[in-house]
Amino acid sequence: MTAMWRVVWVVCAGLSVLPPANAQAPAGPASAGDATPTEDIVIGSRVLADFGVLDGFGHVSARDPRNPNHFLLSRSLAPALVTADDVMEFDLDGNAVDPRGRSVFLERFIHSEIYKARPDVMAVVHTHSPGVIPFGVSQVALRAMFHNAAFLATGTPVWDIRTDFGETDMLVRDPSRGKSLAQTLGDRPVVLMRGHGDVTVGPSVKMAVFRAYYTDVDARLQSQALALGGDVNYLTPGEGAKADAINFVVLDRIWGLWKLRVAPTLGK
Ligand SMILES: [Zn+2]
Repeated sequence: MTAMWRVVWVVCAGLSVLPPANAQAPAGPASAGDATPTEDIVIGSRVLADFGVLDGFGHVSARDPRNPNHFLLSRSLAPALVTADDVMEFDLDGNAVDPRGRSVFLERFIHSEIYKARPDVMAVVHTHSPGVIPFGVSQVALRAMFHNAAFLATGTPVWDIRTDFGETDMLVRDPSRGKSLAQTLGDRPVVLMRGHGDVTVGPSVKMAVFRAYYTDVDARLQSQALALGGDVNYLTPGEGAKADAINFVVLDRIWGLWKLRVAPTLGK
């Protein structure tokens, strides 16, 4: 256990939070990805579909731990139906390494261009989750409402495809659109897409999925708080940094719960 994790363990002891053996440090190296990203892609896809964050659309990917210039992404398929056999390998130009006639996602360039721009990113999730849509089209900024969404406390950019590409079908269907999106994401964990959805990234599939889920929850809660009227007392960036460190410590606990949630569907 490193000194930093010893400190986190002491801080969390009062919360009955055990530091998992494979806890991922918030600023870990690019190699700190999942040992089995394919399995986590399957679980994450099904979990997010079960929660309604993904429906028939959206996708979960991971950088290939065997080759950082490749990433793993399902063939074109509804997330709730993804199995390990559906996961394909792509290069960072979005080309399938071994297509074997399988259809691929039109929006795979979201993933390829973010992996290209962000060496620290080991996983990417793209959703059309209903909760976030209002914050991509209005003047109200998405803010951190509570500790599980602490990663939103430093602000969330909104990518407007019309700025660079005029009137389009709204889809990230080529590398130039993916590159523009990655530039707006910058070094943040989340970017909203006007009239479309969002993208979350992380050092593991588990964390990218966690962020996709809690971004949607946070957006719904913020809409409720705003509807109450009056000022909303959001998390500050300082509170966000402290709370997000805890999110990394408890990640395996909630992942274990989510894995049980979708276990009956695996193999189907
Ligand atoms: Zn999309």
